[in-house]
Formats: sequence, C-alpha cells, structure tokens
Amino acid sequence: MKKRTIHIGIDDTDSTRKGCTTHIIALLVEKFEKLNVKFLDYPNLIRLNPNVPWKTRGNGALCLRIEYDSEIDDEIKQITKKVVETHSDLEFENTNPGIVFLNKKDVPQDIKKFSKKAIEGIVSLKTANKLIKKFELDSIGFNNSRGIIGALAAIGEELDCDHTFELITYREINNLGKKRKVDKNSIFLMDKLTEPFTFNNIDLEKSRVIITPRGPDPILFGIRGETALIVKKAFSLVNSFEKIEKWVIFRTNQGTDVHLKKVEKLSLLKPFSSVIVKGTISNNPYIIPLRHVIFSIKDKSGEVDCAAYEPTGLLRKAARKLIVSDQVEVYGAVKQHKAGKVLTINLEKIRILNLSPKIEFQNPVCSNCEKRLKSLGKNKGFRCDKCHKKYQHKQKEEIIINREIKKGMYITSARSQRHLTKPFRRYGLEKTCYEKKGIMIDKWHNP
Ligand code: ATP
Repeated sequence: MKKRTIHIGIDDTDSTRKGCTTHIIALLVEKFEKLNVKFLDYPNLIRLNPNVPWKTRGNGALCLRIEYDSEIDDEIKQITKKVVETHSDLEFENTNPGIVFLNKKDVPQDIKKFSKKAIEGIVSLKTANKLIKKFELDSIGFNNSRGIIGALAAIGEELDCDHTFELITYREINNLGKKRKVDKNSIFLMDKLTEPFTFNNIDLEKSRVIITPRGPDPILFGIRGETALIVKKAFSLVNSFEKIEKWVIFRTNQGTDVHLKKVEKLSLLKPFSSVIVKGTISNNPYIIPLRHVIFSIKDKSGEVDCAAYEPTGLLRKAARKLIVSDQVEVYGAVKQHKAGKVLTINLEKIRILNLSPKIEFQNPVCSNCEKRLKSLGKNKGFRCDKCHKKYQHKQKEEIIINREIKKGMYITSARSQRHLTKPFRRYGLEKTCYEKKGIMIDKWHNP
C-alpha cells in the first residue's frame, strides 16, 4: 500500500467560554490511532506572536504530522473537518477556525519563513493564502478564516532547535466550568522530585500551583518539561481528585524565548514585536496606579518607556531599584499606545549589565560627638545639636549608598510569564539545533 505523509495545521477553534484547540488534537489523535496511522512526531503546540490583538489566550496553534495509507486520504481530511466543526465555538464572533493540509514529506522553506514571521511579528491572511495557492495545499476556513494563518504557521515550525514538552490532561464533560480538583501537595512534591527538568509548576513567590488553568476550557492541568519521559513521570506523581478523561504529550516551543528578537538600537523598535534591546536608564522608575513601575531607557538613537506590571513580581521589585545611568538589556513586547504613538516595552526580563554608584550628600559629623551636624542654611556652615560647636568650613559629605540589587538576569514571576518566556530553570538545558528529535516514547497519549 502506498504511504502518504500529511501535516495538519489547526488554529482558532476556541473562545473564552468554550473549547481548546489542543483538545481537538487530542480527539483527532484518538480517532487516527484507530485508523492505524503512524504519528511522525508528537502533536506540535506552536505558540505564535504573543502580541497579536486577535488571540484568545496564549496564541497557540497546532500541527499533527502523520503517515497513512493513501487510500484513507479523504477520510483523514473529512474526520479533521468534522471534529473541528463540531468542537469549535463557531457562534462566537471572534472564533475563526482554520485548517491547512500539507501533503508533502518536507515542509517548504517559504512556509518555514512564514512561521518565523508569525512568531516574531504580524502576518496577513493574504500572504497565507498566497502560499496555500503556490504549494497547492488544501485548506478550510470558517467564519472570517483568520485561523488559516495560525494553521499554516504551525505546519512551518518543525521545532528543529530548542523545544520542550507539555503533557496536557483533559476533564470529563460534566466537570467543565467547575472548580478543578487536583491535590495541591502532590504538585509541590512532583515539582521537587522532577526539578529542574520540569518547569512552571508552581509560582514560588505566592506558593501557588500554576499548572491548572482557571477558565471553562477542558484542560485539567498541563505539565511542562524537557523530555516526554519526564513530563510523563511527573504526571504519575500528580494526584487528581477528578477523573482524567484523556491526556496527550505535545512537543512545543514553550519556554524557549523564540519570540524575542535582538534589536540593535531603540529607533528600530516596532509595535507588536518582542525584543531584546540595550539601553541606559534615562528616567528614574516611578509607580503609577495599580502599582505598575515605569522607567525609560535611551541610546544614541532614541528613548523608550519600559513597564514592569504589578503581577511581574520580582521583576517589578528589581525595576524599582534601577537609577539613572544604570545599563540594562530589556526583554519584552513593544506596545504602541494610541495617544501620541509613544512606544512602551512591556517587560518580561531585565538583564542588569552595569550599576552606577548611587550617591547621596549628607551633613558632616561633629568631631567631638560623632553626631551628624545640623545645617545653618546655605553657605552658613553647620552646628552640633549636642555640644553646640559650630563649623563654618565643613562641606556636605558624599555617601555611596548600597544599591540593594546585583547585576544579572531578572525574570517576571512564573504566574505572569508568557508561554514562550524561558524560565530560569531552563537556562543551560536548551537543546541545540543539531540534536536528534529522538524516538517517540511508547505511550504518549491516552486513549
Ligand atoms: P488558545 O491559546 O486558547 O488556543 P489563542 O490565544 O491561540 O487561543 P486564537 O483563537 O488562535 O488564539 O486566535 C489567534 C488568531 O490570530 C488566529 O486566527 C491566528 O490565525 C491569528 N494569528 C496568530 N498569529 C498571528 C500573526 N503573527 N499575525 C497575524 N495573525 C496571527
């Protein structure tokens, strides 16, 4: 029997009130398994540009890569269409599902480039459709079809370089919308036993479990880690008080910082992109309502505001301690505020490169009592409150103040990290582009 390869990209099926595209993939995996297809990879969960205005939550798009007998080609496509149609929130005005099928073994370079752009910037449906036409791909769009962008982009990111895994568990239908019942202590223990090879299980600052989402979506919890084996081991350590209907291991670009692009100078910043850029603090940090911290950086080409929002926790605390002339490298999303077209970088990370000395001037000390003197007014000298001795010629003293922060990297707290943000735990564990994907583990989904 002749074999065919297909890459199936799917996106934009869910809404804030219903569904999740990863769940659609879980349903398809179950159905395709029964057709004896060969899965060429774990399902890929590709996080695209986190700054797109149309996203529901984390701008995730999905791709299944499989091999099957050519005679079931139609069946594969029909099943995909049916599952997407049945499980998407098509009545929701902002849900615009898209499916793209690529019937080739190798993903064309143009589609790979398109994905890179969709992760770093903004791409158009027109460009996606041009590529679909050029490579004669089948595609299906619902409503305004915007999901086709994400579907094509998911196909084009094969995760050849750094990547991670996430094991996602799903709830029974009658539990949707109810409080998630998972043993918190078992998650703390799981984290301890699997660190540093799993990440973002817990927000240590607040001692809060963060593997369980909050909304009405079907996900019970998701465990992220370096390998399929470790997320599966971690899963076996978590005690759930409600039935897990199904689970699947995804390969993903989460936790890799792949969205961040180095920019040489501030004048080159563009809205909707995520950047890494160096600058010197040009305005001392100040606090705005809701406790967000704002400061500015500059270089020879320009100046930009940086914002450390309240939930960024430790990052915000570090930002507050910066002073004019400190040198930093900031990581974050470039936002354009409508009024005045001023750009702001919403911070995900700050690397402090250089701390400038913080100097304060204080009154001199009495030679008799070693007490700080009182000033008698500008150029009028000082007097000791204790022994009343006067000093006409003493000057204020320069005091170097302890900075209370160190050079190095500061990252937003786990609870406010974006899916793509690389957490501390992953530093040093990144996979190289030459590492083989490895053989898939035996049981990576159920059912
Ligand atoms: P979830 O994370 O819950 O799956 P979501 O946050 O992924 O939801 P979607 O519902 O998929 O959000 O909406 C994102 C929409 O934006 C999709 O229609 C997708 O095709 C489109 N999109 C994604 N990335 C880009 C991009 N870089 N440029 C333009 N459009 C994009």
